[in-house]
Amino acid sequence: MIPAVPAGSARTVSTRPLKYLAGYPASLQAQARTLLKQGRLGPMLGAKYPEPHAVRNDGQLYEYVQALKERHMRKAVPLGKVLYDGKLHVVRHALGTHTSISRVHGGRLKASREIRIASVFRDAPAAFLRMITVHELAHLREPEHDKAFYQLCTHIESDYHQLELDLRLYLTAREAGQPPG
Ligand SMILES: [Zn+2]
Repeated sequence: MIPAVPAGSARTVSTRPLKYLAGYPASLQAQARTLLKQGRLGPMLGAKYPEPHAVRNDGQLYEYVQALKERHMRKAVPLGKVLYDGKLHVVRHALGTHTSISRVHGGRLKASREIRIASVFRDAPAAFLRMITVHELAHLREPEHDKAFYQLCTHIESDYHQLELDLRLYLTAREAGQPPG
């Protein structure tokens, strides 16, 4: 019998802290670990979010972000540059740590209203690009990851919290070599 996951990596999966899920309940992390070990986390997310997007380059990204801004954040300051950034660390710079709500956001340069989207989103499902864009747009008005910020996110996208959790699960699966689909 060939094990689905090599013994060594299964052990790694069970002991390594799930960095994208720090701040979520231990029960949720345990569940994610189990799904990872069973090889089901990636495929599960792929089935839940089958729809890709066609935002391939920075020009298209600008138009995409601008369209969402026009629809939901019209009165906010105009956008500066909008780009995919291959060096951006998703959790540290784009999502924050989830637990430290007072952290000043690092992925958006305040003066120029530049929006950088980690390049992992280029190939992520459409729902996750939308989620991170909502996140960045909300920062135009609310710089911190505080209550007002998340209220604004859920005002724009009612499913925001579920999408952020699923994005974190997606990143977890991806880094464990379990790409969705
Ligand atoms: Zn943020």
